[in-house]
Amino acid sequence: MSFTMHGIGVSGGIAIGHAHLISHAALEVAHYIVPKKKVQAEIARLDAAIASVQRELQALYSAAATTRASAEFEAFLDLHQMILNDPTLSKTPRKIIEETQCNAEWALAQQMEVLLEQFDEIEDAYLRERKADVTQVVERVLKALLGHPGYVPPPAGRDSVLVAHDLSPADVISFKQYPLSAFVTDLGGATSHTAILARSLNLPSIVALHHARTLIRENDLLIVDGDAGVVMIEPDEQILDEYKLRQNVRRLDQQKLLRIRTAPAATLDGVKIELQANIELPDDVEQVRASGATGIGLFRSEFLFLNRDELPSEDEQFEAYRKVVREMKGQPVTIRTLDLGGDKRIDGDLRVAPNPALGLRAVRYCLAEPQMFLTQLRAILRASAFGKIRILVPMISNLAELRQTRNLIGEAKRSLTTEKKRFDDSVPIGGMIEIPAAALSIEAFAKQLDFLSIGTNDLIQYTLAIDRTDDSVSHLYDPLHPAVLHLVAHSIHAASRAGLPISVCGEMAGDVLFTRLLLGFGLREFSMHPADLLPVKQLVLKSNASKLSRLASKLLKTSDHEKFSELIVKVNME
Ligand code: PEP
Ligand code: MG
Repeated sequence: MSFTMHGIGVSGGIAIGHAHLISHAALEVAHYIVPKKKVQAEIARLDAAIASVQRELQALYSAAATTRASAEFEAFLDLHQMILNDPTLSKTPRKIIEETQCNAEWALAQQMEVLLEQFDEIEDAYLRERKADVTQVVERVLKALLGHPGYVPPPAGRDSVLVAHDLSPADVISFKQYPLSAFVTDLGGATSHTAILARSLNLPSIVALHHARTLIRENDLLIVDGDAGVVMIEPDEQILDEYKLRQNVRRLDQQKLLRIRTAPAATLDGVKIELQANIELPDDVEQVRASGATGIGLFRSEFLFLNRDELPSEDEQFEAYRKVVREMKGQPVTIRTLDLGGDKRIDGDLRVAPNPALGLRAVRYCLAEPQMFLTQLRAILRASAFGKIRILVPMISNLAELRQTRNLIGEAKRSLTTEKKRFDDSVPIGGMIEIPAAALSIEAFAKQLDFLSIGTNDLIQYTLAIDRTDDSVSHLYDPLHPAVLHLVAHSIHAASRAGLPISVCGEMAGDVLFTRLLLGFGLREFSMHPADLLPVKQLVLKSNASKLSRLASKLLKTSDHEKFSELIVKVNME
């Protein structure tokens, strides 16, 4: 039966392929019968998985002791240790395997169901909420049983569209190695890191489809239209032909754009514009060079830290940063220090924040883990001896964070000097404007910084109080909200008054809908996903900066929201 589903298109393009369903929820486990003679081995497999989670928790204890982690964190570890060791979880599933000859995952999931039902009957609200802890512990054991990330690759030799309920940024990174032609998910927001990564894979992607994982069956033929946010399931011949044609036209348009790849980016009235690229992993540099970008304006370094049991060592990080800077052959590389926390969690980090986006994230996370931060700073500084590196600090909200970061950079430099290791002593230090408080503090921050970069994805999230990962509020995520545009324009003007270079590296920088508006606000540096660069360049080449600046100041003066929207349309027609 053919039908259509609508979601939010987060990465453009058209893909035609067969559905490949994955279950991210570790709890959706398979059930199979184990031969009688293998029952003891199955029990041993369960015991080994429990023992490995015990070691994981123990390692976290040791780490907590050295990093002076909070008492809450230790209490949290205690609780997970207790749940894991409780016979209802460690012993009963063994009995289930023995009695029913089922696989270990199934036995564990069955026992968890029983426990959760018992929790539902508890009157005490605090104890009832511990259900989530039981689920987390069971998920850990299941992951150990299944082997992280528990993913079955798509069949080779055909176009596959990955269909999932939800994907974490770490999942998307791990899919880089598989030949997929599109992603569709039930959940997710337009500027979530999952969506950004899908864009970086250059694959058409749609999120917030709600029931895709339930309604689409393995192997169904799908058309994914990432621009319109539409998935067509089992389309008829006529529609299929129409989309094949559209796919070809798009390919031809992209090829035509390659003609301006090496042309310098400047407006009709001669204003030079810097167009740089965003990357997530060192291998992305290939795409950057193909796009004609003049540098890397944002290297989201935290992706080196995901999907692994141990943190990357200083040497491993140094090699990765050096590889990027060498391959950029003298062009600047802006390495953002770790933006962990929020929706990007490293394996083994059991901290559960009540509100991750407002919690220990980015520079806050790094300052709470000074040893990890120092290791990264030393690695970046060492790589700075091999090319033009800039250090960019995410999510700053006050001067104290900046001072502490500068102190740690000073400490990293001193230790490298003592060890006679080379680095660029004048490596520029920049800050990301992602929180309204930071946008309104640029004058104060200017003395501590050499450059700024506006992270519009988070600036919008924090200005409008909208979780960027939550599709139930994604209709409220509005880059054109007057409050957002005032903050962006104010940041550009304040930076220019303070003599600081400023760029935009959020998704707004790569969306042609906003190019002229940003030029009108006086923005001269953009950093975006490499695939967006040529369409933005094409628009820059056709724009007149002084005309746009006049229109933009008119826009900023109006308090009438309708007039505001009319002027935005005018800016884009200019
Ligand atoms: C942003 O917030 O706009 C940004 C560039 O950082 P990230 O998307 O990685 O949070
Ligand atoms: Mg951000």
